[in-house]
Amino acid sequence: MSQVLGGQPIIILKEGTTQTRGQEALGNNIAAANAVANAVRSTLGPRGMDKMLVSGIGDIVITNDGATIVDEMDIEHPAAKMMVEIAKTQDQEAGDGTTTAVVLAGELLSEAQKLVADSVHPTVIAAGYQLAAGRASAFLDSIAKSVGPSDTALLRRIAMTAMTGKGAEVAMDQFADMIVRAIGMVVEEDGTVDPDFVKVEKKVGGSFDDSVLVEGIVLIKERVHPAMPKRVENARILLLNVPIEYRKPESNAKIRLTAPGQEQAFIENDERMSREIAEKVIRTGANVILSQKGIDDLAQHHLAKAGILAVRRLKTSDLKRLARATGASIMTTLDDIQPESLGYAGLVEERIMAADEVIVVERCQNPRAVTILLHGGTEHAVDELERAVHDAVRVVGVVVEDGKYVVGGGAPEIALARDLREFAVTIGGREQLAVEAFARALEAIPRTIAENAGIDPVDALVALRAAHEAGDRSAGIDILSGEASDMEALGIVEPLRVKKQAIASATEAAVMILRIDDIIASSKEQGSEGEAAGDY
Ligand code: ADP
Ligand code: MG
Repeated sequence: MSQVLGGQPIIILKEGTTQTRGQEALGNNIAAANAVANAVRSTLGPRGMDKMLVSGIGDIVITNDGATIVDEMDIEHPAAKMMVEIAKTQDQEAGDGTTTAVVLAGELLSEAQKLVADSVHPTVIAAGYQLAAGRASAFLDSIAKSVGPSDTALLRRIAMTAMTGKGAEVAMDQFADMIVRAIGMVVEEDGTVDPDFVKVEKKVGGSFDDSVLVEGIVLIKERVHPAMPKRVENARILLLNVPIEYRKPESNAKIRLTAPGQEQAFIENDERMSREIAEKVIRTGANVILSQKGIDDLAQHHLAKAGILAVRRLKTSDLKRLARATGASIMTTLDDIQPESLGYAGLVEERIMAADEVIVVERCQNPRAVTILLHGGTEHAVDELERAVHDAVRVVGVVVEDGKYVVGGGAPEIALARDLREFAVTIGGREQLAVEAFARALEAIPRTIAENAGIDPVDALVALRAAHEAGDRSAGIDILSGEASDMEALGIVEPLRVKKQAIASATEAAVMILRIDDIIASSKEQGSEGEAAGDY
């Protein structure tokens, strides 16, 4: 890039930097963002297809989950990366609706491109989109319905809607029931839900039917020493984030053994120190020790002799859950452990589940941290089941927390589009065009759900519009008949937050991309030639 000043070009950017401006820049960005939207489009809805993703080292993931797909794709282009961000934000905030958010952002940008071609300035479109998004959010609030934590039938339907199309169909009732019970056990008194306290653990082996909800915590671990008890009732549990081991003090001084027997003395000293450390732990009165860190061989031996069941190298997340379920404190030092620091569980037991050892911590006084242990015949099946259950756990948590839901199946998008068209005429000017474009973009959701289910998208849209026109705001796509049906009656229901967040994050990304009219890209660091920045 150079500027001319008094006839002399002034170079302000490093050599190799490329610059793309105006419509060309916007066109590039939109094309890249749309490429991401197109990659997930065919997975949307209950009849969406799966994607097989093969990594550079040959690992295979088969999924229908938008967040997983964009996460696994190796994306370089900055505008495309924004689309990945949308999926991530959506997943974090609402736990579901990632594909919807990405597809919607792509549609908003395609619509914007048409308006730009008609000489509507991108800033005007951005402003119109923001107006529309604000209106949409308020409208969704106005059509949302209430659901309480004890409304388990409805909560189960919400779980099932989130799992539809994700390979969990065969045993969906069973999973929905487990998920709703699990959330019911971890909900706080103030009504908030931390979905991390529903642990979803998976094991290859057995079938989906072998999956269980454990009112407590399942650790995919074994006890550290075979001489330890397999089963401890009335467990007094010590949680550690510190190793049980004797480390010789480090020193550079060399010790010269001068007399016979001295070597033996050193070994004995080590053994004594090690025993003292183990005894410190034993004196706490704990009969179960669950540690995030290691336990050395000698300590294992002493603990086993004392009849203690010990497990080592646990994940931080598991330790936190254990603390919550058992009431134990996580100790970071072995000195000064008080009886109050120990937790309680009615039973800690090493068990075989689908041919593998696991440690189960259950009968806690107040479970408040539970595990859904999934089984399935193959790794890919269990992985996809885990993603479906994960989404459903999040979604039920979200809806219990917010107490608000909307119907699905494209019904809210159609209702929103209608409302936005009415709203658009009150705005006038060019922003009106943007609000109308926003309405069309929303209709892409039911259109795509229909298309992916093998239903003629134009017919579907016409039928839906007519039903809404006639006052049926719950009319969405019945994927079996292809007709407009009452989604409430079919039990296709979703958390309000999923829809609101999808619109908010899609709009945010579209607006951000629309405002960019200048791409200045530095040349890549050496070592990656051939991938020049001008490649987008
Ligand atoms: P996302 O990642 O956006 O959640 P999904 O593939 O899960 O994508 O599809 C979600 C969409 O499918 C939502 O609009 C939801 O209402 C709709 N949907 C789910 N189940 C059904 C169903 N049985 N019939 C019609 N639409 C459904
Ligand atoms: Mg979904």
